[in-house]
Amino acid sequence: MAPIKIALVGIGKIARDQHIPALAASQDYELVAAVTRHTGPEGIPSFRTIEEMLAAKIEVDAVSLCTPPVGRYALARTAIAAGLHVMLEKPPAASVTEVEDLADAARRRGVSLYTTWHTRAAPAIEPARNWVADRNLRDVVITWREDVKKWHPGQAWIWEPGGLGVFDPGINALSAITRIMPNHLHLTDAELFFPSNRAAPIAAHLTMSDANGTPVRAEFDWREQGSERWDIDIVTDCGRLALSKGGARLAIGGDVQVDGGAIDAEYPGLYARSAELVRNGESEVDLAPFRLVADAFMLGRRTIVEPFVE
Ligand code: NAP
Repeated sequence: MAPIKIALVGIGKIARDQHIPALAASQDYELVAAVTRHTGPEGIPSFRTIEEMLAAKIEVDAVSLCTPPVGRYALARTAIAAGLHVMLEKPPAASVTEVEDLADAARRRGVSLYTTWHTRAAPAIEPARNWVADRNLRDVVITWREDVKKWHPGQAWIWEPGGLGVFDPGINALSAITRIMPNHLHLTDAELFFPSNRAAPIAAHLTMSDANGTPVRAEFDWREQGSERWDIDIVTDCGRLALSKGGARLAIGGDVQVDGGAIDAEYPGLYARSAELVRNGESEVDLAPFRLVADAFMLGRRTIVEPFVE
């Protein structure tokens, strides 16, 4: 089968670290163009805008958007209007309603829209979901702590409205737990910690629950000075499940069941799924993690903390 011709839009950290290598190894895709305000990947034609790429009349079937979430809506709208399939990095746009509108536009234009959640493609997530399915959950604790200076150096957009602050990594944990737990989660309480000089939170505590009343607590914090912790602990009526390394490692009752590579294992899976959607003429738009973040901003108490200086 001929590969799907794809353009990458926004050549920053995640495009270089994950998308370009995943596309280079993919049988499903051929990277034919980059849309960038700077220098694109070597050997690939680069354009400053999607409109310029379209005007050049190169053959392209799809775009993968790796820009920050604010601004993605307009890019995706342009691509959909031109009949291109669209794959979105997480979080999918700047607001829930933007994504709903994109889903509607893609349906009307007959193209595929895929809101990716890379942590869901981590190797321990599906085994965790399967194990949990037959058990009664008692308690869930999510700990997502990392050093913002190490993981997001110089990323000014992440501190702006719509950049989501600590929810940029925290939404990965929410994408994992909303995949693993069989019932819908809703937020009951939140506290967001804003540096006095920033428009986005540096830490957040969330309390959530499902229809059975299972307590789910999450702590997201960018002020970690030691090793990062991307952990989810689930206590059930027959044993304890521990996910760590952002969904790469799974232990049940202390016995390690899965210990795969971390993020490097995720993007080949995302592109394989994306190709399947495009070839089947389908979209996949799951907003559950994004809605929980929106609800945290809506319901959360705001506490001002010391300024953040990079
Ligand atoms: P980044 O390093 O800041 O790169 C974003 C790129 O988007 C920039 O290099 C720029 O590319 C383009 N861009 C267009 N408009 C921009 C604007 N107004 N401000 C800044 N950049 C703009 O960010 P990133 O870490 O790659 O993250 C991008 C998305 O991927 C985010 O949604 C993030 O949550 C997600 N993600 C990141 C990681 C990670 O480890 N960093 C992991 C998974 C997912 P050009 O110079 O080519 O125009």
